[in-house]
Amino acid sequence: MKRLAILGSTGSIGTQTLNVVRRNPDRYSVEVLCAGSNADLLIAQAREFVPNAVAIADDSQYLKVQEALDPLDIKVFAGTESVADLMEMSTIDMVVAAIVGFAGLEPTMRAIEYKHPIALANKETMVVAGALVTAAANQSGVPILPVDSEHSAIFQSMVGESGEWDADHECFVSAVDKILLTASGGPFRGMSRQDLEKVSLADALKHPNWSMGRKVTIDSATLMNKGLEVIEARWLFDVPASQIDVLVHPQSVVHSMVQYRDGSIKAQLGVPTMETPIQYALSFPERIESHLPRLDFTQYPNLTFEKPDRDTFRCLDIAYDAIDKGGNVPCAMNAANEVVVQRYINNELPFLAIPDEVERLMNQVPFIQSPSLEQLKQTHQQIVSMVL
Ligand code: NDP
Repeated sequence: MKRLAILGSTGSIGTQTLNVVRRNPDRYSVEVLCAGSNADLLIAQAREFVPNAVAIADDSQYLKVQEALDPLDIKVFAGTESVADLMEMSTIDMVVAAIVGFAGLEPTMRAIEYKHPIALANKETMVVAGALVTAAANQSGVPILPVDSEHSAIFQSMVGESGEWDADHECFVSAVDKILLTASGGPFRGMSRQDLEKVSLADALKHPNWSMGRKVTIDSATLMNKGLEVIEARWLFDVPASQIDVLVHPQSVVHSMVQYRDGSIKAQLGVPTMETPIQYALSFPERIESHLPRLDFTQYPNLTFEKPDRDTFRCLDIAYDAIDKGGNVPCAMNAANEVVVQRYINNELPFLAIPDEVERLMNQVPFIQSPSLEQLKQTHQQIVSMVL
C-alpha cells in the first residue's frame, strides 16, 4: 500500500489523483490532504479518504475544518507553513505535488529533504528552482516522476534507453537528439493579433481539449504554459532548451516525443486525460490496469503538426530567453506571469497585454547568477510587491 500526501487535493490534478486512488483502493491510501482555501471540498475529501492529517493554507478556515474532522480523529493544521511542515511525516510514501504556482515550491523542497518520492504536477517548482530541486533530489536519491502529460510522455519514451557507451570515459552518454514537446495551441490557435484584440476571458478559459485549473488554462492560451514546460523538461531530463522543440498538435493525442541520435522517434499516445499520466507516476515502474477510454485511431484520421506562431504568442520566446539567461530570470518570469495572469483573470488587462506586462515586470529584478532558495523567494516577492 502506497501512502500518498496530495498537495492541492481540491484542484483539477488533486481531484483526478483521488479518482485514481478511488479506483485502486488496494494499492493507494491517503495519508495527507492539503488545500489552499476550499474548506468544503477538503472536508468532503477527508471524510471519504480518512487521511491521518490535513492542512489548509488559509488559516481563517481552521476552525471550520477542525470541527468537521474532529469526530474522525483527523489532525488538522492551517497556514502556509503547515503544508510544508507536514512533509516531515515519516508515514508518507509519495508526495503528489499539485499546488498551483510558486506556493508549491517550499513543500516540494521539504518533501525532497525528507526523502519522499515526488509525483510532480507543479511545473512552476521546476521553472523557479530547477537547479536547486534537481540537485537536492539527486543528493537525497529522491525520484521526481512527471505528472504533466507531455513530460510523462517524454519520460515513458525514455524508459529503457541507456544511451551510447563512451569507452574513453567508461559511461553511457545520452542518445537523445531532441525532445519534441507537443502543444495543443490552446483556444486561440491560428488567430492573428487583430483577432486577439476581441477575445474575452471566457474565451480564454475554454480550452479545446483539457479541463484544468484557471491559471494553467490561461497559460495554455498565451503559450506561456509551453514555455514553462520547456523549462520543466530542461531540468527533469537534463536536456538543454536548444534541444527542445515545440510542435503544435491540435488533437492532443501524441502527448510528446523523443528523437534519438539514430533518427528514431519514440512517442506516447492516448486519449487526452490527465488520469493516465497521474496513474503512471503513482505506479511506476509498474504499469497497472485502467478502465479509462482507449484511443480509437479511426476517430482521429488526421493527426496534424505545425510550428507555433511565436510572433503572435510571444510568451513562448520569453520563456526560451529566460532559460537562456538562467539564474533568477526564470523565477522572475514565473512570478511576473503569476501576477499578470491573476490581473487578467480579474479583468484588469486585455489578453494582448500579458506578454508585455510579464516582460516589463521581470526586467525590473536584479540578476543573480546562482540564486539560493532564499534569493529565489526574494525575487518572487519583489515582483509580487510591485503590483500590490
Ligand atoms: P487548480 O487551480 O485546479 O488547483 C490548485 C490547487 O492548489 C488547489 O487544490 C488549491 O487549493 C491549491 N492551492 C493553491 N494555493 C495553495 C497554497 N498556498 N497552499 C496549499 N494549496 C494551495 O490547478 P491545477 O490542478 O490545474 O494545476 C495544479 C498544478 O498542476 C499547476 O502547476 C499546473 O500547471 C499543473 N498541471 C495541471 C494540469 C491540469 O490538467 N490541470 C496539467 C499539467 C500540469 P484551493 O482549491 O483550496 O484553492
